[in-house]
Amino acid sequence: MNDITILGPGAVISDFSDSPTVISDGAVAMKEDRIESVGTFDALTQQWPRAELLNAHGGLILPGLVNLHHHFYSAPARGLDPGRPMHNFGEILEGLWWRLDRALDIQTVRLSAALSLADCIRWGCTTVFDHHASPSCLAGSLELTAGVVREAGLSAVLCYEVSDRNGHDEALAGLQENLQFAADHRNDPRLRGLLGLHASFTVSDSTLEQVARQRPTDLGIHIHLAEDPLDEALSMRRYDQLPLDRLNHFGLLDRHALLAHGVHLEPRDFSRITESGATLIHNPESNANNAVGRLDLPTVLELGCSVGLGTDGMSSNMLRSLRAAFLALRAGTGDPTSGFDTVPGLLAVNAQRAAKSFGEPLLGQLEAGAPADVIVVDGPPPTPVGESNAFGHLLYGASESVVRHTVARGQVLLKDFRHTTLDVASLANETHAATPALWERFRSL
Ligand SMILES: [Zn+2]
Repeated sequence: MNDITILGPGAVISDFSDSPTVISDGAVAMKEDRIESVGTFDALTQQWPRAELLNAHGGLILPGLVNLHHHFYSAPARGLDPGRPMHNFGEILEGLWWRLDRALDIQTVRLSAALSLADCIRWGCTTVFDHHASPSCLAGSLELTAGVVREAGLSAVLCYEVSDRNGHDEALAGLQENLQFAADHRNDPRLRGLLGLHASFTVSDSTLEQVARQRPTDLGIHIHLAEDPLDEALSMRRYDQLPLDRLNHFGLLDRHALLAHGVHLEPRDFSRITESGATLIHNPESNANNAVGRLDLPTVLELGCSVGLGTDGMSSNMLRSLRAAFLALRAGTGDPTSGFDTVPGLLAVNAQRAAKSFGEPLLGQLEAGAPADVIVVDGPPPTPVGESNAFGHLLYGASESVVRHTVARGQVLLKDFRHTTLDVASLANETHAATPALWERFRSL
């Protein structure tokens, strides 16, 4: 019985730590949803001569990537004219995102998720943490999204963005959506929940009180924090407390928490985050796009913070986000030697966080027994790959290349650049047909 698939030959980089194992003529043997063995291509093909071969054509063989902060619903924003000037972050939220999320209906929630998940697969992301909002079809929206995740074949950690911006009742409905989804998926191997909160400045004290009272203690929050000075200014004005103080006050700042951005926090805040064990998520492309400022990554890491990486709905391409983090860091430090000691760890933190979320300690590593989440970035590296220069190949090579294969839990989702689970042409057609009505609803808000 031929139940082994060998993915190779190519340059295997075992993980995103600062000391990965590199096998230059390597391969990965997979059985069902697990990695059976990692070694040289010759050794594995000799061991399993009848194995099915998935030809990596000499490309880089990497663990599936993890995105710690995405917004699937941003997919239909491409080309959307807000029709009004947006001079600052508050106007971007009110003029674009809070109108778009209210305009979403069941069909466009589903399409947005499918489009974003297709892009995740296209760029080699096999585990994605999404932060969802669709106030006009709130109840059941996470389960609806989960259905698309299952169809796509990825793993995802979903949450609904609790906010009082459309009233307290809606905030409480969002809380229930999170609690229900998380409870229904406590032991799901591919889907988990978090407790989504928009940002301190749109979540009232009374809502946070309910969150604190109703959440299971191991259900972490996933929140935007100090993305723009607006968060701190309005939190002070409305609730007389800074955002981080509020989270701490309500007992929400803990090792389960995911905190997106942190651009405008102070060093003492980063130290508190370190003490809490929470994870900060850097979103360099989004921060640049919204012109909200730049996270001082060297300082944050020096203070011991665990920092991961997300795309914040800007794209689904994690290697491009890694490159953006690196370039933003160098632009900030003005030091052309900086970055190599700090930026590589971002993807490792993502893998660790996903491993924790799914109770899969080996997730994100290419080794026997790990979940078979494996990608091939196309093209043989033109120069030698080793343990000391693996990050250089990711940064200057892989981030500029296309992904040939994406395998998640042993299922080939992208084979020779083609999707196997999602019909991207039909999705584009269906979205084209649905977009005029969506944009019309958007313009009426
Ligand atoms: Zn976000």
